[in-house]
Amino acid sequence: MQQVAWQREFFRILVVVGLGVALGWSSGHAIWGLILGLLTAQVMAFRAMASLYRWSYRQGPPPQDSGLIGYSVDKLIRREKNLKNKLAQQAIQLQRYNQGIESLHDGVVIIGQEGYITNFNGSASRLLGLRREDSGQHITNLIRNPRFTRYFNEGDYNSSLQFDVSHRKQFSLQIQITQFGLDQKVMLVKDITERKRVETMRQNFIADVSHELRTPLTVINGYLEMLDDMELPPSLQKAITQMNGQGLRMKSLVNDLIELSKLESANTEQLGDWFNLQQLGYSVVDQLQAYSANRITFKCTQAIEIQGFSDEMSSVLTNLLTNAIKYGGEDKIEFSIRSGFDGVKVSISDHGAGIPAQHISRLTERFYRVDDSRESTVGGSGLGLAIVKHALEHHDTVLDIESTLGKGSTFSFIISSERSRVMEKD
Ligand code: ADP
Repeated sequence: MQQVAWQREFFRILVVVGLGVALGWSSGHAIWGLILGLLTAQVMAFRAMASLYRWSYRQGPPPQDSGLIGYSVDKLIRREKNLKNKLAQQAIQLQRYNQGIESLHDGVVIIGQEGYITNFNGSASRLLGLRREDSGQHITNLIRNPRFTRYFNEGDYNSSLQFDVSHRKQFSLQIQITQFGLDQKVMLVKDITERKRVETMRQNFIADVSHELRTPLTVINGYLEMLDDMELPPSLQKAITQMNGQGLRMKSLVNDLIELSKLESANTEQLGDWFNLQQLGYSVVDQLQAYSANRITFKCTQAIEIQGFSDEMSSVLTNLLTNAIKYGGEDKIEFSIRSGFDGVKVSISDHGAGIPAQHISRLTERFYRVDDSRESTVGGSGLGLAIVKHALEHHDTVLDIESTLGKGSTFSFIISSERSRVMEKD
């Protein structure tokens, strides 16, 4: 085709120039005839080019030319048509993709570089209260929640974030951000209001039952204690002692259940108050030193303050130290609080039997115990570490457990530098 176009072009020039030469020849001016032929060929080419120029600006029909220009124009028209078809297909695909995102029950927000919103679907606008004109705004200007701002800015999106928002209606949301491309993010917003409601119902039920059990248990335990102190026949004495022990276990179980449900239903949006962690450490150690037979060595050389909830932190330290006393053998228990560049590290180490590796990740589950038979004699409710986990979550930290069989265990956590400050140096 391309070759034919070249041939036609040459043939046309040849015919025009030939006619010119023939005309010149017949009148005895062959040279003038040649010049006339060349000029005519040039004019024809010029006209085709002018028509091409007009067409390129969409000011006229495509040039009608049988030579190279006509061939090129045909090619361009075909290419434009293909391109239009492809664009139309892509537009359909984009529309389908948008319809798919739009129909999702979960909210989707596409966030571009630097955190500015590029696009979002209807569910996102329903759940987050976004309006069409919010496109182009910074996400943290629209979701005004300190925990979300911290989650977004920290850039560690391995885990999701849960928080409550209220606009028109109160929603409990779960947010998960995934990064893609060049600093682009897609944020999935899940409505977990119903799940939270059922969870709250379950927590309230446990809390109510535990509260109801507390009074009869106090009465039963009171009488059992009284009976235990009395002179009784040996067979009865054994039964009463056992009942007394089990009664006390039940009391501690009920107390732990109440504490856990309080922690679970606490408002996690608040950061709490500043309190002296060093003093709290000393007071917890004082309370437990007799029970531990003076095995606890406490090291904290600086007056450290943290922002949080002192009663929850007291429960964390008490539970970890009590466990070290119960399961940590006869050796010393090392309890230390020290500040480092990433915050304040609290660590409790014992030299007991240690914990087999396969149990470590499950220790903070409710009622989880490593060895039920052994621990029914020394252990508590199995809720201690679940309480610790929840209380630490309120301080934006997690419990780290390291243990070596036969050597002992270390339970530690770090309170971030935003939530901690050293009041005096050594
Ligand atoms: P419990 O009330 O039974 O002590 P916890 O939740 O406090 O329950 O602890 C869960 C389990 O973790 C314990 O039953 C015990 O098996 C194990 N555990 C906790 N602390 C230690 C420790 N310092 N050394 C060895 N095992 C431990």
